[in-house]
Amino acid sequence: MSGTSKTAQQLIDIESTLGAHNYHPLDVVLTRGEGVWVWDVDGTKYLDCLSAYSAVNQGHCHPKIREAMIEQAGKLTLTSRAFRNDQLPRFYEEICALTNSHKVLPMNSGAEAVETVIKATRKWGYEVKGVPEDKAEIIVFENGFHGRTITIVGFSTDPTARNGFGPFTPGFKIVPFGDAAVVEKAITPNTVAVLVEPIQGEGGVIIPPDGYLTALREMCTRENVVLVLDEIQTGLGRTGKLFAEEHEGIEADVTLVGKALSGGYYPISAVLSNTEVLGVLKPGEHGSTFGGNPLACAIARAALKVLVEEGMIDNAAKQGTYFVDGLKKLRVNEIKEVRGRGLLIAVEFHEEAGGARQYTEALKEAGILCKETHDNIVRFAPPLIITKDQIDWALERIEKVLRDA
Ligand SMILES: *Cc1c(COP(=O)(O)O)cnc(C)c1O
Repeated sequence: MSGTSKTAQQLIDIESTLGAHNYHPLDVVLTRGEGVWVWDVDGTKYLDCLSAYSAVNQGHCHPKIREAMIEQAGKLTLTSRAFRNDQLPRFYEEICALTNSHKVLPMNSGAEAVETVIKATRKWGYEVKGVPEDKAEIIVFENGFHGRTITIVGFSTDPTARNGFGPFTPGFKIVPFGDAAVVEKAITPNTVAVLVEPIQGEGGVIIPPDGYLTALREMCTRENVVLVLDEIQTGLGRTGKLFAEEHEGIEADVTLVGKALSGGYYPISAVLSNTEVLGVLKPGEHGSTFGGNPLACAIARAALKVLVEEGMIDNAAKQGTYFVDGLKKLRVNEIKEVRGRGLLIAVEFHEEAGGARQYTEALKEAGILCKETHDNIVRFAPPLIITKDQIDWALERIEKVLRDA
């Protein structure tokens, strides 16, 4: 029988029977996307307010990225880094010009970019800073999220992410997020890096106090520590600037990007460096079969181009303010707080409201797809191309759903 004749429930049952249950998705089976909209197998249309955790900032199936992908797919897709390809240098040149970076190391997933920076800053610590062998320390933060590898979950403070997966990689010091003084105290002569999200995304859109990143920048410079900003979720326009660091006018030594680097077409991540940190890596010391492949590079070039040329970053700033203001005006007693920067927005509910999942389920029925993070928070992060009318459409439905729930 043809696969197209299966019902949504049949597809859900197959997934449930054959797949590992490492996710708890909403029961909506999507088959098509265009811009801010997605459609399920029954033809019902939804506004995507998750954007695949900010990987689809440019909107679903952006035609110019699609064109670049199809063109490159018919020419050359993978050479491995054993040989050179003609897309990689062009990608380097364009991303460095856009982000004011001097060196790039391309990988595939976000977690791989994080692993890469851990390796590079450790080696920098031994070879440049003079840290004694195997003593390098990296400062990381409570409630942070950087991916799912053993090393990364080893420094997570989320028991669900971590419990049952030990033993873990040593060399990380976990401190509370948002208080610069505790970071200063945690720095020792063996500290090689501070690894931080400028806004904690998976942690529930936690925005640190004004001046926090500036203080981290100053102490990292003073103590000769590499400041690494994980902008895999906050970067590439999501918060209304190309990078969230710009809200404080600072520059990280190393910036991690992923997710929207392909506009949702392909797993592509990169480590961007404005110091010589990446210079410590020599041939053979790090790599990836697919990292930097010509298909990925062609897609990333188009994804960056449309982000800038089509004004998506400014639109995120403008529509983000409008969306947050609208959410703040909702008269719903269960809401504890609305917060956001650009189009990275969270609504936190009071604990007594009984959990956020009920709201994401009900919003789905009303045509809006979003996902709870932790128990009481719903994140609203639509593609950056969303219009005021579409936000009005959403606000009307969000208000009704939250009132009726
Ligand atoms: C999503 C995310 C990652 C991990 O990216 P993957 O592509 O899922 O490995 C790392 N850091 C942050 C801040 C993220 O939001």
